[in-house]
Amino acid sequence: MKNIQRICLCLTALTVGSLFLSACGAKASDKSVSGTRDDLLGTVITLTAYDKNGERAIDRSFGRIADIHRRMTTGEGSEIAELNERSGAGAVALSSDTFALLVCAGEVSRSSGGAFDVTIGPLVRLWDVGGEAPTVPERARIEDTLSLVDYSRLELDRDNESAFLSQKGMSVDLGGIAKGYACDESVRIFLEDGVSSALLDLGGNIYGLGRKPDGSLWKVGVRNPVIGEDGVVGSIQVSDRAVVTSGINERYFIEDGVICHHILDPGDGRPADNGLLSVTIINESSVIADALSTACFVLGMEKGRALLGQYPGTEGIFITDERKILVTDGLKDSFELLNSGFSLAEQ
Ligand code: AMP
Ligand code: MG
Repeated sequence: MKNIQRICLCLTALTVGSLFLSACGAKASDKSVSGTRDDLLGTVITLTAYDKNGERAIDRSFGRIADIHRRMTTGEGSEIAELNERSGAGAVALSSDTFALLVCAGEVSRSSGGAFDVTIGPLVRLWDVGGEAPTVPERARIEDTLSLVDYSRLELDRDNESAFLSQKGMSVDLGGIAKGYACDESVRIFLEDGVSSALLDLGGNIYGLGRKPDGSLWKVGVRNPVIGEDGVVGSIQVSDRAVVTSGINERYFIEDGVICHHILDPGDGRPADNGLLSVTIINESSVIADALSTACFVLGMEKGRALLGQYPGTEGIFITDERKILVTDGLKDSFELLNSGFSLAEQ
């Protein structure tokens, strides 16, 4: 009998890669207002504003995130579900923002040479990591399924804002990018409502808006990605930046002693296995950081760093299974190592 250890989503949501470290410095008198929901985008979302208009911004943000959830997850009745159902049959008209997210996902699919692949859906369903019946599929099934994963066969019609998956059985999965989009939308709403200091945490997709009430930078921790260990490996300080992590510890199951995590390599159809445990990306755009963290995780350290070169102003933190941490040049002064079980990698 197979020895399957299932790790459920609600548990894994707490172990996502980056986390907000220091509310210290933000005193009760700073009048923070905070809201948490655990029913959207498969994760726990906490939005905290240090501003009198915070409550309205938080309410409006959750409304917007719920809207994104309804349209862009693969749940029944969503626009993405309809697009997937119509694969091989016909184009589907989309709302402007779903279309825009598909365009963005398509662009990163291209720039990463398919390491990030917006049409990863059939493979995600096959492995079902974090789902009801996670399984290591037979090789032949992986091969068959891989023939349905090809971002170049997602046809996007900009004039009509419609999309078409050209082969039956293909499907889009925005799990690697939707939280980033939702985060950017919340930031937009916060700014619209005049909130200038806030901390957004969408299941480990962190965004530090402005500065803390005491004028200092937001301190964001990078979680220890080793399964079975807790805490952080280090921290960085940011302002007006997204900090997004992809890691093996977000969602996984263990079968016969092998860790099978949720970031799949479209090259061989298996959980990416290149010596990385997590990748954290820092960018002013959360959606870009989200897509790039997934892409870099699949690409590995060297190719991942090369990809970041295509996105000026983007920084990264790569953690290897040898407990080495590589930080890109722009983070050298800001990254603080906080775990003696890890060391900084030579450049
Ligand atoms: P993230 O935590 O942002 O790296 O996203 C991981 C999620 O993205 C998975 O749970 C899948 O839904 C989806 N995914 C897995 N592998 C890929 C891939 N190679 N390209 C795009 N999305 C992926
Ligand atoms: Mg991602």
